[in-house]
Amino acid sequence: MNRENTRPAEPVEGTESPPSNGRPLHNPGSSVERANPFLWVSWLSKIMAGEKQCEWASWFRSHYIWEKVPSGLDLAKWTAGHTQLLHARRAALEADGFTVYAEDQNSFKLMGETGIEVSGKPDIVAIRGTEAYVEDCKTGTPRHSDHFQVLVYMLALPHVDGPCKGRKLDGRLIYASTIVDIPSSKIDADLRELFRKTVLAIGGPEPARKVASWGECRYCDISQTDCPERIDAETRVTGNHGLF
Ligand code: SF4
Repeated sequence: MNRENTRPAEPVEGTESPPSNGRPLHNPGSSVERANPFLWVSWLSKIMAGEKQCEWASWFRSHYIWEKVPSGLDLAKWTAGHTQLLHARRAALEADGFTVYAEDQNSFKLMGETGIEVSGKPDIVAIRGTEAYVEDCKTGTPRHSDHFQVLVYMLALPHVDGPCKGRKLDGRLIYASTIVDIPSSKIDADLRELFRKTVLAIGGPEPARKVASWGECRYCDISQTDCPERIDAETRVTGNHGLF
């Protein structure tokens, strides 16, 4: 698993501080319930793409502020690589006559009727006349969830006040050596329904399915205190079976 590519375009998972329900935010060893369910687009996109079996991890993150298990991700290295890619892309778009909006300029929050908040921060929005693109820069191995992340941005931004309001957006994934186009036609009824169902499943009150496995637990930032089923040891090798 490529750890560089596990970092969302939004702030690194769990470092954000949305409002709690009034209880203290820093209580070592215990999680604190959020005032409202809160989701980053990057959490949703991994589930929409079927890359995460343990949906409970995202459900828990959306409902609680928790003491994170330290990540093995080299954040400084990731940030440097991502910033370099983003700056190069912005310069190329500006040279082509686009007006470019980057990162925090593109932050959005959608609040649904159920009180669930979905937040995102696309890397780039580029506008030139009637053309409008939302782009995300990826430094790691291409993943299916990258597409879903951009698709959700394409779905959300036309509803948000700003340069994309009311526009039909095309999307692009910017990798170090290639660019992948995502046409606006991908925003169809199936995508809308998948997004809606995923938001309600992960942001809803019913805990989502928990699937403990070494493959996912070893990259999960939820400790055994909050998830007693966490598996911290690799699957043992079985010998003397006589099968082959
Ligand atoms: S530690 Fe494992 S079982 Fe627990 S939430 Fe994380 S991935 Fe799921």
